[in-house]
Parts: sequence; structure tokens; C-alpha cells
Amino acid sequence: MKRRGFLKALGTLGAVAFVGPAFVGPIKQVMGDVWIDEPHGTGTDYQDYTAENVIFTSCQQCNATCTIKTYITAGAAGGAYSSIVRKIAGNQYSPINMVQIGHINYDTPVSQAVKGTGDVAKTGRGLRGGRTCLKGQAGIQTNYDTFRIQKPLKRVGERGSGVWKTVSWEEAYKEILEGSKDIGTPGLKEMWKYVPEAAVMADWDKLKAGDMTKAEFDKKYKDILIDTNHPDLGPKANQIAVMAGHRREFIERLAVGSLGTANYYDHGGYCGITSVMGNVRSHDAEKAKKRMIPDYDNAEMVIVWGTNPMVANRGPTTFAPQITNAIDRGMKMVVIDPRYSKTAEKAHVWVPVKPGGDGALAMAMCRWIIENNRYDDIYLRNPNQEAANEDGETTWSDASFLVNVGDKKRPFVRARTLESAARNL
Ligand code: SF4
Repeated sequence: MKRRGFLKALGTLGAVAFVGPAFVGPIKQVMGDVWIDEPHGTGTDYQDYTAENVIFTSCQQCNATCTIKTYITAGAAGGAYSSIVRKIAGNQYSPINMVQIGHINYDTPVSQAVKGTGDVAKTGRGLRGGRTCLKGQAGIQTNYDTFRIQKPLKRVGERGSGVWKTVSWEEAYKEILEGSKDIGTPGLKEMWKYVPEAAVMADWDKLKAGDMTKAEFDKKYKDILIDTNHPDLGPKANQIAVMAGHRREFIERLAVGSLGTANYYDHGGYCGITSVMGNVRSHDAEKAKKRMIPDYDNAEMVIVWGTNPMVANRGPTTFAPQITNAIDRGMKMVVIDPRYSKTAEKAHVWVPVKPGGDGALAMAMCRWIIENNRYDDIYLRNPNQEAANEDGETTWSDASFLVNVGDKKRPFVRARTLESAARNL
């Protein structure tokens, strides 16, 4: 609200408001001209920090894990710095946080990077801070939330009762290791039994060959394997299932390297699993590609399907500015989503597909494309780079490959497979 508007609104409150002691402070402030009408980000004020009170770290408010800088409050009277976070800003060394300007030169010393430049008006932001979204800014509230869980919680009563009590770390460690009698959960000690696969399967082969009896096999492995009738299920350690999020390197070492379970799965954000798995399964590459990032800067049209890039997966800091700039440039956007999402709001066409109807829509689109010859025939015919080069195409596809549908893994049919099949005719 502008100052003039505020004063006018205040005037309409009449004398009643003026007698209220609660208004004395605000009135003084208005008279003292503390309300600033300039648009945010275009002022000239900035504050310098020193390298000692800035910590370069990453935001954990969502799975984008943007790189950030946190400013911590200086101690009193020149004493040591406190651990109180005062402000969170984007890390301007990071390309994620510096769309569209681009990150600063990596040779820039930290002591310079933490300072302001006096050029706050440059594209709305100064050199000192990259972009963080509002949720990232709210990291301070998360950090100091009164209800933030800081101690282990133990369930009280039946599963699902929703009642918990705080326990000490020592009690938590003990119950995780040895199990809990009152809630009837097993401990890691009881579940941790490990044996290398090769040794078990060698004995299993002996058993099948008649060189070892089942009784001998059972005796040897009954306390180690989950089921001696199913050595394929592995050791009891596999009963420990670990699903990791962030800090997965550490958790993987604990789960796989230390506990020895095969049932370890990780991904930074569970929301992104579908896109990652879709990409992994779509490319026949030695090193599976986990992500394909749209080239919003150059695309003429995008179809957004099964994701919400204005909000999720590096959305607020990277995709949102890219998309809005691209739309401004003329890019068209179609969003297929049952929800009128933040991205759908910005779309030229929103297709509110019925939940569960995505597959049918995709197949209908494929059918229409084939029946109306709206596919790129030359591109699809090129199976490798050499063929693509001859046709002046920059990429190629596996569309012309045959698939062995007789094998449940559905491998591509190789020449040697056809040769051996021909020999057996
Ligand atoms: S997008 Fe926002 S909440 Fe997510 S990591 Fe970046 S700054 Fe934090």
C-alpha cells in the first residue's frame, strides 16, 4: 500500500482508532516516513557482509536442494559469531540460482562474493545474492519452528494411534538395536545376519547336484537366510529396508556397506521417481540418463505432462523464470494435468485429463500421429549417428530396432541372434 493510500485508509477509521494505544507506534512510523514505495529489488541500499558470517550451504526445503548462502548474526561486542541464521540468499556461484543472469565467475573470491556491489538494480538483483524461492526463505522458520522435532519420538500404543512420546537418544539407539518389548518391534541385531551370495549359491548348487543334503543346508543357513527354501531372498539382513532421501551417500554406506541389505533405495525427492524411472527405462545407454531437462530457452512449444515445473524439481529458482521468459518470447505451453496447477495457470492450453486417463490420451495421440502421417519418417529411420549424419539429422532413435518379444526382458534383436535363429531353421 502506498503511503498516501495508507493515510487515507487510516483516516476512515476515525477517532476511535486514534485513541487505541496499539496505533501509537504505527502512526509514529508513518510520520517518520519508514514506508517505502519503491518497487522491491530496485533500490540502491545493500549491506555488506564478511566471509566470516556467511555460510555457503544448500537449501533442504525441497528436493531442488538449491545452493544458498546463510548469513549468521554476529556476536555481541565483536565476540564470536552466533549460530543464529539471519538471512538466506541464493548462492551466486550456482547456475541453478542465477537464471537468467548466469553464475558469477568461479575465480571470484568468497570475500568479494559476500559483499554487495551497489548494483542492486541490475535485473532486479545484485551480485551478492542469487535467487531462492519463498519456501527456501522460510528455511529460517523451519530451523526455529517451535514444533520442530529435535529428539527421537517413540510410538505409544497401537500403530496408527498417532500418540508419541519423546525418548532420549540412548533409549532410541538401544531399542533400534535390540528391539522394543512394549511395541513389539524387532531390533537390528536380531535381523542382521549376512552371508555372501556366492557361498550360499555354491552350496545350493551342491544340494541340487546331490552333493549336499537339504538337512545339511538348513543347518548351515537356518539362522542366516530368510528362508532356506528360497536362498534367492538372501540373508536376513535383507529384511532391513532402507529408503533414503537426502544425505544418501552416508545412508547408503550404512544400509548397504554396513548392514548389508539389498533393499536399499534412494532418491533425493520421491516426487521425481516417476520421471527418473521413465528416463532410465527410455534410453538404451550404458550409463542410464536420469533426467532430461527441457530446453525452455529455445523451445517453440512445450507439453508439460506429469510434472509441475513452476513449483517442483528446481522449479521456483530455475524453471519458473525460464518458462515465464520463454512465454514472453513467444513459446507456447500445453499442460496436461487433472489439477489446475501453478503451471496450468500459465498455459496456453490446459488439458484436464481425468486421473488415470493419461495412458489412453497418450495412445490416442500416438494413433492420431501415425494415422495422419505426422511423424518424422527420416528421423525415425536413422538407427545410429552415421545414418543420421547422412540425412543431415542431429540425432537418431531406436525406432527401427526389432524387439525380441519372446524374452521377458524384451532385448533388441541383434544380428547374431537372427543368424543363430536362421542356422536352426
Ligand atoms: S526451490 Fe526453493 S525450497 Fe526448493 S531448494 Fe530451491 S530455494 Fe529451497
